[in-house]
Amino acid sequence: MNFTKGNIGWIEVVCGPMFSGKSEELIRRLRRAEIARQRVQVFKPGLDQRYADDQIISHSDFKIASICVKDAADMEAHLDLRSEVIGVDEAQFLGNGMIDLAVRLADMGKRVIIAGLDTDYLGRPFHPMPELLAVADEIQKTLAICMQCGNPAKHTQRLVESQELVVVGAAGMYEARCRRCFEPNLANLQKQRDSATAALGRVAVK
Ligand code: ADP
Ligand code: ZN
Repeated sequence: MNFTKGNIGWIEVVCGPMFSGKSEELIRRLRRAEIARQRVQVFKPGLDQRYADDQIISHSDFKIASICVKDAADMEAHLDLRSEVIGVDEAQFLGNGMIDLAVRLADMGKRVIIAGLDTDYLGRPFHPMPELLAVADEIQKTLAICMQCGNPAKHTQRLVESQELVVVGAAGMYEARCRRCFEPNLANLQKQRDSATAALGRVAVK
């Protein structure tokens, strides 16, 4: 959606599992807005300290400057009302206040571009992404590549044992999996690994 009459605002949502290119897509859209000389502000939650705290960095090393905030209220406090385009990465960590904030910004004539995980490590909808999808004008679901079989992957597989909803990490702690290879029950994941190791052992003995 890149043509509008007058100052009409709207909400775009990019969602999918980890490694599916959400940050890449967000950065691409924001860069184009910058090239068009629009005023851009970019936010991300402060808890993801994996890389830099003043930048969004994709797994493929695309970067854009961003402001770290703890929730939607904090984001609102850091908003420059002259901004025309407002980007948000990892919106699933910014709380339900994001829904109302996104709608108010769009109603004020801002272009709001939101990226985030649509489901959690158990495959459950990750709030507030479902609500943001509902209030969005335009949505894009991105798919990764399943690390087990190469099919399109819609799930984020957690590889480490934890019942916490939020365990921050990337390669080694999570991988993309398709619907068939996704295993939310980590005990079964361990069995899968054991049988794969046993199968390799049998091949080596032959
Ligand atoms: P997201 O924000 O959805 O986690 P990023 O935009 O940060 O994704 O990274 C996408 C990039 O991750 C891809 O372009 C590719 O270089 C890399 N990548 C690593 N693992 C995978 C995978 N399993 N499927 C697709 N891309 C992957
Ligand atoms: Zn698979």
